[in-house]
Formats: sequence, structure tokens, C-alpha cells
Amino acid sequence: MSDLERTRGFERDDEARKKGVAGMMQRAKERALRNVEHVAEAVAADTMTEGQLFDVATSVGDKRLSELTVRDTTCGYCAVGCRFDLYSDGEEILATRPTDPEKAPVNGISTCVKGKFSYGFVNSEDRLDLPLVRGEDGEFHEVSWDEAYERVVEGFQGVIDEYGGEAMSVIASSKATNEENYLMGKFARQVLGTNTVDNCNRLCHSSTVAGLARTLGYGAASVSVRDIEQTDCYLLTGSNTTEAHPVIATRIKQNVRDGADLLVFDPRKVQIAEYATQFSQVKPGYDAVWINGLIRHIVNEGLYDEAFVEERTTGFDDVVEAVQEFTPERVEEVAGVPSEEIVSAAETIAAADTCVFGWTLGLTEHSHGTENVVAMANLAAITGNLGKPGAGVSPFRGQNNVQGGGGDMGPLPDNFPGYQKVVDDEVRAKFEEAWDCDISPEPGYYTTDMFLAADRGDLRGMYCIGENPALSEPGVNHAEKVLSELDFLVVQDIFENSTSKFADVILPACSFVEKTGTFTNTDRRVQMVKKVMEPKGHSKPDWVILQELANRMGRDWDYADTAEIMEEMRTLTPIYGGVTQERVEAENGLQWPCYDLEHPGTVRLYEDEFNTDDGLAHLEGIGYSEPAELPDEDYPLTLTTGRVLYQYHTGTMTHREPGIMEYTGSDFVEIHPKTAAAYGIEDGDVVRIESRRGEITVPAQVTERPGEDNVFVPMHFAESAVNRLTDEEHLDPDASTPEFKVSAVRITPEEGESVPIERDAIEREAGDD
Ligand code: SF4
Repeated sequence: MSDLERTRGFERDDEARKKGVAGMMQRAKERALRNVEHVAEAVAADTMTEGQLFDVATSVGDKRLSELTVRDTTCGYCAVGCRFDLYSDGEEILATRPTDPEKAPVNGISTCVKGKFSYGFVNSEDRLDLPLVRGEDGEFHEVSWDEAYERVVEGFQGVIDEYGGEAMSVIASSKATNEENYLMGKFARQVLGTNTVDNCNRLCHSSTVAGLARTLGYGAASVSVRDIEQTDCYLLTGSNTTEAHPVIATRIKQNVRDGADLLVFDPRKVQIAEYATQFSQVKPGYDAVWINGLIRHIVNEGLYDEAFVEERTTGFDDVVEAVQEFTPERVEEVAGVPSEEIVSAAETIAAADTCVFGWTLGLTEHSHGTENVVAMANLAAITGNLGKPGAGVSPFRGQNNVQGGGGDMGPLPDNFPGYQKVVDDEVRAKFEEAWDCDISPEPGYYTTDMFLAADRGDLRGMYCIGENPALSEPGVNHAEKVLSELDFLVVQDIFENSTSKFADVILPACSFVEKTGTFTNTDRRVQMVKKVMEPKGHSKPDWVILQELANRMGRDWDYADTAEIMEEMRTLTPIYGGVTQERVEAENGLQWPCYDLEHPGTVRLYEDEFNTDDGLAHLEGIGYSEPAELPDEDYPLTLTTGRVLYQYHTGTMTHREPGIMEYTGSDFVEIHPKTAAAYGIEDGDVVRIESRRGEITVPAQVTERPGEDNVFVPMHFAESAVNRLTDEEHLDPDASTPEFKVSAVRITPEEGESVPIERDAIEREAGDD
């Protein structure tokens, strides 16, 4: 890409940003000022002068401001961890404003459209109010909390009495706070008697966690956002950064504008590629191939960091041997990356003083995602890009609290909080004593395995908190069948959703603006979340519901607030040993590991040693595995799935914000122009997409973004539910992550009229502002 093209890319982005955000900003202002205008209109009837009217409006506005609750809090959308002030009149969220930049170490004054504007869900008319219990007529009926708890206890106890606690399962919520997730793990083990507790991490970065834990020691980003801002070079792969992590993308773009190199490897020409010094379009499912190709060139040409390898790693010889088959020619043949691009990318990384290796789900959501991550860790280590400023591995986490709630807090079948192993007798004894219960040394099922186990009859009951597996699991036709056949299902959420259709009881929870606690963001930073308004209707925070249920099931929990929960958790969790809410507030966040109350937290991992038994990085020579399902005559195209900027996950929150829905309000499939022409498909035509597991129909967007052999569908829409097409059976052997990024499909134009696509809206991709 020429400099001119890149400059134009920056300019287009700025224009799109202004255009996209301006409309929403206007609507938000109008809403905030509505009451003031009504008062001014009434006064006008009394024939006041314009000046007097202005004075009245100003004083009314000031009075309203003094009546508002304003809290600095952490965004509840993605894991970038932006902080800002939220304004509420007790009824609704009126506005967001930048907070003191000291309190917002990740984003300063920046936010994206979701964090800034998408709060319509809080007051949505269909917010759950009272608990719902399914009656004998098969319908849901509103009941009191007491009646609902009675039914839940009866249902859980029924499963436990008949099949044992291990027939129960819990899906925890990475949207909820750290404190609540700690309780979800405790509830599963202490109250229900099962290790089968897991969360959405299984569907996204669990292969990151597995791959990094076994090579470097911690399943987390080694860098801070500051390193990302300052590095000399980026290797980004499988990361639609501008849409999924907009504020981080802006930091990257600024740094590239200032001269950093940006290498993007992706099957789809995502927007960040427009800013790249090199974009390489790869065949989906062959990431270990091109990464091994980079390593081969670097070691064979003597471009690796010899001193780092010698002093801080083991396994280098195995890596060198394993990568020899990945010649540039072979990489081109298997992964589709031209050999000269492998050579130039390898030499750019080797020449850079520092490099950040960033990825999202394009690297991990595979039947061999862990293998890909190990290859990336090898590459970072042999180039000495770990444990120093501006260098490291940076898996960008998705859900707001998937790092903390999805992993650190231990709602995991094999780990207690802080990644302490269930199979470790000493660790287990510690938790048995603290929680006053017996805990099986046998790990429970991962989420994806839960659905297979339930299908076999090995799981009978499920407590699903703040997740929507009927839309997010791979192969949702299968997931729906499993959910409908469970003996007892409780769904706890802020809305009814695709999963609650199958529930016996639905419990109304509240959102992050209605409770206090902490989230941990993508760079391991624990930050405060603060209540700005009371829970809507009769809804309750997850931790309150868990406590009330635990006590009705014979336990004696008496947490007065989430600070007390944090206090208990930290005493059991070495990497959070010094984390209290008081310190998080006073120190504007703390990055783990933070071992005790005097420890300052850890800005950058591995500066002195790796978190392994010998303190060295354990490199592993690995080859590559084929995707589980390859295109063939019947299903000749490869489907990949992913996110768009204006939506969030299964849309539970963003679908309720009219401003957001104006931008990308429905599903679509991206098809390359040559492929579209071959099938007689035009922009806007409705297309049937079929895999071996199901079919969906969506309008086509004809674009060069996907390669000719691939199609792309976003994952956010229940109506089309792209996961009807994905595969629930072929999982990563280490992490049980599904292969969302490779499914063999075929496409057929549907009869009937074209659905007009707002190309402008779909292609417009505002960054932060
Ligand atoms: Fe929230 Fe957007 Fe920041 Fe993510 S990038 S934390 S969605 S404001």
C-alpha cells in the first residue's frame, strides 16, 4: 500500500468518524436537554423576553445538573476498559463525559460509540422486572422473588438428589463483576457440588490462555496499553481491531502515523489493514503455517535474539527443527501468503527494536487455536520481544470482564481463582477449608463440552448467568436441542433472550450501571465499576441473587457489599493478593499480579522471569493442523464469522439502542465480487447459506473484503443466527474452543426481491472520538 493510500485511509476514517458520531451526539444532547426545553416553552407562554427565557433555561439546567448522579465508571461493553463519567437522573442514563484522565489510564478522554451512546437498553420496555416461572400451562408467569427462589431451590435440589451435584452446571458471566464471578465459582463448587462451571472465554480466548500459560506462564497479555502505544512494530492477526477494540485501534493508528510498522495477516481485509505497511491475506485456518514460516526465516537468516534465547528460553532447538518444513514456498502453497511477504514481514519484525504481537479471535477460534498461540509465543520469544517496554504479546480480550470474570476469578472447571489448579491437592484443600465443602479433584466440563455431555445425559441441570448460549454456542440447532431437554434450567439476565425460551425460571438481574464492583480489562488492570442508578424494577445485582440463593440452599453467606467479596477472594488468590476496592479506587486501577498490600501491581509481565517452574519461557516446536472441515464439492466456500463496530455480541444491549441500530441493524453476508458474479448474486440479493449443520438467509454485501473463496457473516443477530452453520463437535484439544472461523458452506441466491443494503452504513466504521 502506498503512503498516499494510507493517508487517504486516515482521512476517510476521520470523515466517517465525524459523520457517524455526529448524529448520535446530537440525539444524546437532545435527550439530555428535553426537560429544559419543555420548561422554557411553558415560560414562553408568559411572554418573557428572549434574554429572560435564556436565564430561566440556564438556571433550570444547572438545577438539573445538581440533581444528577455522576460517577466515574468502567465501560460495560468491551475489554479495552475505557473509563468515563456517567450521568443519571435516577431514571435513565443521560450522558457520558470524559472523566479526569488520571482515572482513565487506558483511554484518557477517548471512547467509542458503544461506550458513549448505547444505554437505551437500561430503560428498555422489555427489561425483566419480576422473576418469571414457567407454569403448568407452559407459559411464564411473574412471581415474587420468594416464590422464584423456592422453585429454583426445588429444581436444583431435585437434580442433585437424583443425579448428584456433578449433574449440575453453571455458565458464568464475563459481563458481571469480578466479585460476582468469584461467587459464581464458589456457588458451583460449594452450593451445587460441581466443578462444571465455565464461561464465554471458552468460545473465544481459552486457547490463548492455554497456549500462553504453557509457554510463558500467564494466560494473559504481557503488555500494557502504554506498550501498545509505543512499540516500533505490530504484527496483528485475526483482529478486526477498529471494530472490536476501537480505542486500542486508534492508539495503533496514531503510532503508525508516527512511523511504527504495522503488519496485518488476516483472511479478510479488515479496516485496520488500510493503515498497514504490509497486509497479507491468509487462507483461514492455517495461521501456524505462516507464523512458523516467519520463525524459519528469522532463525535461518540469523536474525533472532540470540542472547534472549540463550538466557531466557528452553526448547529453541525443537522450534528450529519444527519450522524447517515451512519454507516460503510451502507457506505460500498451504496458507496462501506469497513468499516475498513472509520474507519481508520476518525481516521487518527482526529489524524492529520492539514489536507487539496482537491477536483476537481469528487466531484462536479454531480446532487448533492453542497451536496457533504457541507458535505466536515462540515468535515473540525468539525475537526477544517479551518483558521490555514496547514489546510483548497482546491478545485483545472481547467481553468487558472476560479477563477477570472469565478467567482470573476462577469460574472455570479446572481452575480456582488466580488459575490455581483444581487437581492440585494443596490448593484444593485450601478452598475446601475456606468454603467449608468437599471439592472433587476431577475438573468439570468446559462450556462447549457441557453441551455434548448434556446430550449424553451426563448433565441434567444448568444455571446460566448473563450468557446466551442458544445464540453464541457453535451449532445452535444442537444447543437448542440440549437446552430444551435439560431437567432444569435457570436463566439470570437483564432480558429474556434466545436461551431463556427454554428456561424453567428466569431471574431478573441488573446491569453494570446499577451496581458496584470491579472489572479487569485486557491489560490485567482491575478498575472500579460504580452504581449510577438503582436497579430497575425488581431486578437485583447478580451477587445479591447468588447470596440469597446460597442461603436458601443451606449456606450462610453474609456479604454486606462487593468490597467484602473482594476481600475474601484476595486472601485466597495470590495474584490478586494486594487488590482491594479501596486501593483500586485510590490508585486508579491495579494490574495483576499484585501479591500483597504493598505490591504496586505489574505493568509488564516477564521483565525478570517467566511464570514457569524454572523462570524460563518454554518454547515448543509445533507443526500445524488442518481445519476440521475443509471446503469440498458440496460445500465449496469457507465461512468466517466476527463482529461489527455498531453491535455487541448477541445484541442483547445494542439491539435496544435505536441510534446504534440505525447503523448496522441487520445481518448480511460479505461475498467477493468474483464469487458473487459466479453465482449470479448482486449487492442486496438475499442469499441462502448452508452448512452441514443448518442454513440461514441473509442479504449479500458484495465487497472485496473476504477472499474469493470465503464469505463472512457477523455474529450479532438472532434472526439469522450464523451459529446454525458452525460446528459444535470439533474442538481445540487443549482448550475446547470451537472452530467459529472455518466452516464449509455453499451459497444460493434466493428467489424474490433484493433487500436494499445501506452500503454506506455497513462500510462506515467510526473509530473513537
Ligand atoms: Fe467501551 Fe468502546 Fe472503550 Fe470498548 S472501546 S471499553 S466498547 S468505550
